[in-house]
Amino acid sequence: MTRPTSSPQPPEPASEPPAHRPRRGRTILLCCAALSVCLGGWLGWQALADSPSSSSAGAGEGHLAGATGLPAEPGEGSGSASTPAASSTTASAPASPAGSPGGPPSAASVPGAAPLAGRTVLLDPGHNSGNGAHTTEINRQVDIGNAHKECDTTGTSTNKGYSEAEYTLDVVHRARQILQDRGARVVLTQDGDRAWGPCIDERAGIGNDAKADVALSVHGDGAPAGASGFHVIMPGRVTAGKADTSAIVDPSHRLGLLLRDAFKAATGEPYADYIGKQGLDTRTDLGGLNLSKVPKVFIECGNMRNSGDAGRMTDPQWRQQAAQGIADALTGYLTTS
Ligand code: ZN
Repeated sequence: MTRPTSSPQPPEPASEPPAHRPRRGRTILLCCAALSVCLGGWLGWQALADSPSSSSAGAGEGHLAGATGLPAEPGEGSGSASTPAASSTTASAPASPAGSPGGPPSAASVPGAAPLAGRTVLLDPGHNSGNGAHTTEINRQVDIGNAHKECDTTGTSTNKGYSEAEYTLDVVHRARQILQDRGARVVLTQDGDRAWGPCIDERAGIGNDAKADVALSVHGDGAPAGASGFHVIMPGRVTAGKADTSAIVDPSHRLGLLLRDAFKAATGEPYADYIGKQGLDTRTDLGGLNLSKVPKVFIECGNMRNSGDAGRMTDPQWRQQAAQGIADALTGYLTTS
């Protein structure tokens, strides 16, 4: 997501249109990849499975609303430009054989490992590298139930030009591989196969249409340089217009706690020190959550404007760890629900 404060942004990344940084958008980003050894990850998710709904330290605070400090921005980390026809619901093929070439060791290599067989996971890589060249399309207002907001935003980037869109797609690819190795059917809202978007309402719709068992939107934030850390955003209760999150608030909260814990364990990234509490935040202004009919959360993997976070997010090994944490959380959620 992009925050207003990050407007004076260097246009370096060809893929990241500087000019259209949503003034108010907050950049949600999902950054995490993990290099953690599969076995480690496997043990990790098993541990998660053993402890139903982690009610650790932040359990009670899952519903913090609002950020401490920075104004919650309307911009949705995940932009979505809806183009029905081009909808790249990249439904990945069901589980690929164990250990994909070049990929991290997979859980599939563990005896009896296919814990996610028959389950569908929706992964939403926030933004799109082509959004900057399609401002008219992404600036179109879409209905998110309790308000109208931009179809999508360009997202943020590191000061050196590594864009949020590149980051989110990379982490999602890594997480997809791990989940497929565990037997899941993974559907993506976009796979770098469309010119822009999709719009936030379509991003939610893709998960609904896929009848996903769980959904996750990955982002990287664009907060002031002095801020750092990651946080998970859970849906608040919204019943307005076509939005009705009543049925997903509780399960999404459970997912949020699992993700918060698994991501921290896999990456070592501290909780955000500028928003939310204990790595958790709850919002009712994100179309991707308001319109979702399936349990869903967003993760802002770090602040791309912070040198420390940017250094980690641009490191492939860290992104693999991030993906591992994400995959473990989703696995834990699906195997304990
Ligand atoms: Zn974002």
